[in-house]
Amino acid sequence: MICACIMASNPSEAADLAARAAGLGAGAVEIRGDRFGSFPLCDLAKALRTPSVFTLRSPAAGGFFKGTEEERISLLLEASRSGFSYVDVERESGVPPARFSCNVILSLHDFSSCPPGLEALASGMAAAGAHAVKIAVTPSSCSDVVRIMRLQRRPPCRASVFGLGPMGFATRITGSATAFMTYASLEPGLGTAEYQPSVPDLTGKYSGASPGAEVYGVAGRPALHSLGPEVHNALFRSRGIRAVYVPFETDSLTPLARAAEELGIRGLSVTMPFKMEAAEIADRLTPAASEIGAVNTLTFEGGRIDGDNTDASAVVDAIESRTGAVAGLSVLVIGAGGAARAAVFGLSKAGARVTITNRTESRGRDLAARWGALFAALGTADPSAYDVLVQATPIGSGGDGGEAVPGRRARRGSVVLEMIYRPSVTAFMAGALEAGAEAIPGSEMFAHQAAAQFRIWTGAPAGAADVMRILRGKEEA
Ligand code: NAP
Repeated sequence: MICACIMASNPSEAADLAARAAGLGAGAVEIRGDRFGSFPLCDLAKALRTPSVFTLRSPAAGGFFKGTEEERISLLLEASRSGFSYVDVERESGVPPARFSCNVILSLHDFSSCPPGLEALASGMAAAGAHAVKIAVTPSSCSDVVRIMRLQRRPPCRASVFGLGPMGFATRITGSATAFMTYASLEPGLGTAEYQPSVPDLTGKYSGASPGAEVYGVAGRPALHSLGPEVHNALFRSRGIRAVYVPFETDSLTPLARAAEELGIRGLSVTMPFKMEAAEIADRLTPAASEIGAVNTLTFEGGRIDGDNTDASAVVDAIESRTGAVAGLSVLVIGAGGAARAAVFGLSKAGARVTITNRTESRGRDLAARWGALFAALGTADPSAYDVLVQATPIGSGGDGGEAVPGRRARRGSVVLEMIYRPSVTAFMAGALEAGAEAIPGSEMFAHQAAAQFRIWTGAPAGAADVMRILRGKEEA
């Protein structure tokens, strides 16, 4: 059940927001009374149209209630007699649930760590007489995320278990399949906690999270900015596939990948900086992934981990959508990192004449030698000498106007692929467009590689055009 968390400055505002939450599809509301100046609790409870939770958080528990602990408990006891469906009482308060006149959600918030023995904690809280337990802890490693997800899959009692902070975000979604309540903000930006999904997120983008649904995701650092959830969840929905795709912000990949099948995870997109780690974890690599030495797609099936790389074909497909074929074309690849390696592999295999330029010469020269490409030192490469430019560095991704190579020096009529997709037009792209080149935005490469991942995981048809339609819809929304 989606529970909209409402923090209002007074009870009538809370009732209005609760009505809005119900209209958006929330099945319950949690009213945080921390900021109320008065407490007409019976009137407030009567005004609510959905099951309701009343709670008051003290500053020590991350809240704003200014009264004493005795006053806080006394108001919670009063709320339990006033018609609310539940009161949320912190475990640390030490007040037995039996003292309250309605069902109690016994809660534990750990804002700094993910303590050991989560299952025993949950069982102990249920045994104390809680109707349901809420455990919100702060994961600081991939292993913590795995522990939270394990408990979500087999909760020992009625429970809502999830992680706080950026690493916890994925578990707020995965937990919704089994949670007693999934806590959400009314709208993006109106949350009572950072990284809380919104009600529209849960009823829309992440509505695939349900018991038995397959889990997919993107693992990276950062991962929360990824377009993947928007795209893959829309593809799953439109093809009637029971699955959800979530962003795993993480410090490493291995614990998640090793536990994937146990956690119901069927596939992961892998992004910076874990593409090499993914290649090491995989039991079986496709020839492309093996030759590139980097994996952006992991599939978990039958106890085996398969690794693929869809970046290489995405670069070639995106360019060929403009040029017809890349065979024989001269291409300057700017960069020698993971994405550039995929580009050089794909383009060389497809018969393009590739030159690499890179800040660290040795790295660029090694990559060129591996594929029989040429190397030109950064600053000496002449962009106007090439049919195609491929920008494969993160320079310009902050919208800061930086460029590894000046786009304005692209040849009129040439094709320029910018891998960055945020911002949608980088300084490099803008310069190339001004020079009369045809620019392919990073979103198009993203669309090709995401569609290929979707096909690998599901076998269902999907093309870059489907993904671009989803992305355009997002822009228009
Ligand atoms: P990476 O492995 O970290 O490689 C970064 C490359 O950029 C290296 O060649 C590095 O040069 C160079 N570089 C970084 N900072 C630089 C600077 N200040 N000056 C000059 N060169 C610099 O990263 P990656 O995985 O290849 O990703 C590169 C970009 O492509 C990222 O922005 C990523 O988001 C994007 N990408 C987009 C897609 C898509 O679908 N659109 C897919 C994959 C990647 P050194 O060798 O000297 O360090």
